[in-house]
Amino acid sequence: MIYLHGIKKAFGNHEVLKGINLTIEKGKVVTILGPSGSGKTTLLRCINFLEKPDEGIVQVGDVKVEAAKANKKEILSLRKQSAMVFQHYNLFAHKTVLGNVMEGLIVAKKMNKKEARERSEQVLEKVGLLDKLNYFPSQLSGGQQQRVGIARALALNPEVILFDEPTSALDPELVGEVLAVIKDIADEGITMLIVTHEMNFARDVSDQVLFMDGGLIIEKGSPYEIFTKPKEERTRKFLKRISGEPSVSWLQETAH
Ligand code: ADP
Ligand code: MG
Repeated sequence: MIYLHGIKKAFGNHEVLKGINLTIEKGKVVTILGPSGSGKTTLLRCINFLEKPDEGIVQVGDVKVEAAKANKKEILSLRKQSAMVFQHYNLFAHKTVLGNVMEGLIVAKKMNKKEARERSEQVLEKVGLLDKLNYFPSQLSGGQQQRVGIARALALNPEVILFDEPTSALDPELVGEVLAVIKDIADEGITMLIVTHEMNFARDVSDQVLFMDGGLIIEKGSPYEIFTKPKEERTRKFLKRISGEPSVSWLQETAH
């Protein structure tokens, strides 16, 4: 589960998060939509203290941290609760597929090599990459690299996985394979928070959809509520703009 209360974050005098409150129950999948610059990435990074919030409370699983009083030990234990999947994969170029997934298990989870290898093979099978164990990232397609990124997160068996636009760096023909893997994991009941511009995917996978703008959650609801009868003008405008793009023609179809 994730619980956020009163999360604020400024860079200099630019207030990027203006008071975020959010509760996600264990096992739920929540997607975040919103225009560029609205604070989506910063919000994800505040959940694992890659950015330290200026104010507020972050709880993931049973680790609760108050930003104003956070010490190193608390931050470390909070970080262990989540894993992140990045837009640009962030793989080690000099490590193989297997090595990339094993690394976190050995360093963060203190597993021995044998255990780490078994666990890595297990999750790499899940993302369909068992035949690529000894490949280097540069020998893989973007979709395959991102599936390694997902396997790496999954291997840690975290309380939650945070996805920051996991398909937005991919060529269109590679988006589907990555979304399919994420959907697979979602069906297994792990808590997930996903920033995405893939509207069909958000509709299919989400228990709840959030719309962010200007550092606030402007609106939240079921996929049906958000996509077919959004209450807020800013949500409507955003969806209208996005739905002009060819891949989301269903928005018009389901509107009437
Ligand atoms: P989104 O992911 O919704 O596009 P971000 O959270 O990346 O939005 O950014 C929100 C705003 O915060 C942007 O104006 C961005 O330039 C600014 N910002 C993000 N990270 C930093 C940083 N480390 N230093 C200064 N400004 C930042
Ligand atoms: Mg972003």
